[in-house]
Amino acid sequence: MAEFLYKKSLGQNFLQDKNILKRIIEVSNISGNSLTIEVGPGSGNLTKEIASVSKKVLCYEIDDRLESVLDVNLIDYHNVDIIFADFLKRDILKDILNYEFDSLYFVANLPYYITTPIIEKLIKANLNFKHITVMVQKEVGERFNAKPGMKEYNSLTVYLNYYFDLKKEFIVSRNAFKPKPNVDSMVISLTNKENKLYLKNKDHFETLVRDSFKFKRKNLKNNLKNYDLAIVLKVLEKYNYDLTVRAEELPLEFFVELSNSLN
Ligand code: SAM
Repeated sequence: MAEFLYKKSLGQNFLQDKNILKRIIEVSNISGNSLTIEVGPGSGNLTKEIASVSKKVLCYEIDDRLESVLDVNLIDYHNVDIIFADFLKRDILKDILNYEFDSLYFVANLPYYITTPIIEKLIKANLNFKHITVMVQKEVGERFNAKPGMKEYNSLTVYLNYYFDLKKEFIVSRNAFKPKPNVDSMVISLTNKENKLYLKNKDHFETLVRDSFKFKRKNLKNNLKNYDLAIVLKVLEKYNYDLTVRAEELPLEFFVELSNSLN
């Protein structure tokens, strides 16, 4: 690993701290006849820990320079398969057809430049993960967990909170990585919401939420000017708001009800 040239463009900050690797596994709750997906094994630090608790591990690594490193580091781990490819381009459903398992997990120290696309892909794949554990940039983690009225509350917060119960697990200092990034990190757990609110059309909901937050300084009347504003107002009034409100004040339930009313 000594001469390995880390690529910043691929988010290559490898976690060195053994205690933190162990804590990630503790919160991941992996047990039983499990398959765990990991995106970006890097040199295999976290993969080894996952492989010691999960029956099978399926990794996706975009950087094939790491193949020889992983061959050596994971030589004793016969329950790990690695696909050298861009995770965002893979058909996960097809990939996991080759495995027999009772519960599916996802654990990753995410490449931060594609945090949102990876999580969106997990949602859209509709795979019924038992538990998702991800390390993200601390500021992004704050956004995921934000409540209405907080400055961190945005469209991704609303979208994610529709699907998942989110839990902030712990903060990881930038000093735990090599090379050291410019930001601290946060480990987050995502579990499927048991009783999701009824939604007529998931794509409509996603677009509506994105449009509602489109221009941060604008109110709902401006951001949703291409929608039926009479319906928007009617739903807003149920929540004691009018069209001058900004999206960051409004709860998830409002966006679900509005999407259902506009459809
Ligand atoms: N898991 C290791 C650890 O915790 O030390 C490395 C994590 S590092 C933050 C992110 C890893 O994701 C890198 O190995 C990088 O090459 C890989 N990666 C970046 N983009 C990727 C993509 N689109 N698909 C698969 N892997 C990717």
